[in-house]
Amino acid sequence: VAKTEERNALRFYTPKMHADARRRLKLASELRQALIRNEFYLVYQPSIEMKSGRIVAVEALIRWRHPERGNVAPDEFIPIAESLGLIRQIDQWVLETACRQLLQWDEARLPPLRMAVNVSAGSFGHPDFLQGVCQALQEIGIPPKRLLVELTESAILRLGEDTERAMLALHNLGVAVAIDDFGTGYSSLAYLKLPAVAYLKIDRSFVTGLPMNANDVAITEAMVAIARSLDLHTIAEGIETEGQHEFLLRAGCQEGQGFLYSRPLPPDEIERLLAPRTTGSKRLSLVPPKRA
Ligand code: C2E
Ligand code: MG
Ligand code: MG
Ligand code: MG
Repeated sequence: VAKTEERNALRFYTPKMHADARRRLKLASELRQALIRNEFYLVYQPSIEMKSGRIVAVEALIRWRHPERGNVAPDEFIPIAESLGLIRQIDQWVLETACRQLLQWDEARLPPLRMAVNVSAGSFGHPDFLQGVCQALQEIGIPPKRLLVELTESAILRLGEDTERAMLALHNLGVAVAIDDFGTGYSSLAYLKLPAVAYLKIDRSFVTGLPMNANDVAITEAMVAIARSLDLHTIAEGIETEGQHEFLLRAGCQEGQGFLYSRPLPPDEIERLLAPRTTGSKRLSLVPPKRA
């Protein structure tokens, strides 16, 4: 019977699936080497205040420059790192690298930005996470309120009871949490009351349909309303068009990220965007020009 079952199973095991599984296995062993070999680097996506177009924050996003494959996307390797138990090391490296970058920008007299880092459930829920954050902030000399920890709604779902403990510890340290990909996690809204949660990031999947799709309009407006009544700051993700920008601005969303303003950039390009001008020229605004 097992034989027949195996056969049946094999029928659905396509060559594509086989190649994917082989790639994952290979990536897994290469991922273990990547940190030591310095193959990771960070890019930073500006986050703009909707009203003024000023850059008020950046989000650190990891990149893996693979020696043979070129760039491997985080959506592919982060889940593998999670399943291999490598994510804590990676997230800690991101945290420290991002904080060091922030210090450098401060020293270069860039306007004081907030730095957001993405943290996986496996890191966030670990008992040593808080100490890692504490250590990075203290050793590098970054005030806790300059840091924002982004945690996805699905991570909260996976963390379960550990969520509250970890959130409270962060809050006591003075670090705020953003709920990333908000609206995609099918979890309860109870965690929105936790004191550390101060930001909601409206997922790109809802922004895409604005301003035409009636469902996306209704959901986005509801999210902004929830956020406002709970005194949470809203950040919309994946803004690509002026129409989306206009809608979100009018809906009362405070901050936005997206290709309309800027793609994630290497540090020197962030500096070029934000470096203090010696002449009296106006600070660059990323708000798209208003049509007459
Ligand atoms: P995320 O935190 O929700 O990041 C937003 C993603 O959307 C980024 O993809 C960004 O490049 C992309 N994006 C930004 N604006 C636009 C836009 O206007 N249009 C479109 N189509 N996309 C846009 P990226 O960098 O590939 O990261 C994917 C995900 O990987 C992140 O989603 C985050 O969950 C995870 N990730 C990235 N860096 C890290 C990290 O250092 N640690 C952990 N644990 N996860 C990370
Ligand atoms: Mg994020
Ligand atoms: Mg997101
Ligand atoms: Mg995401």
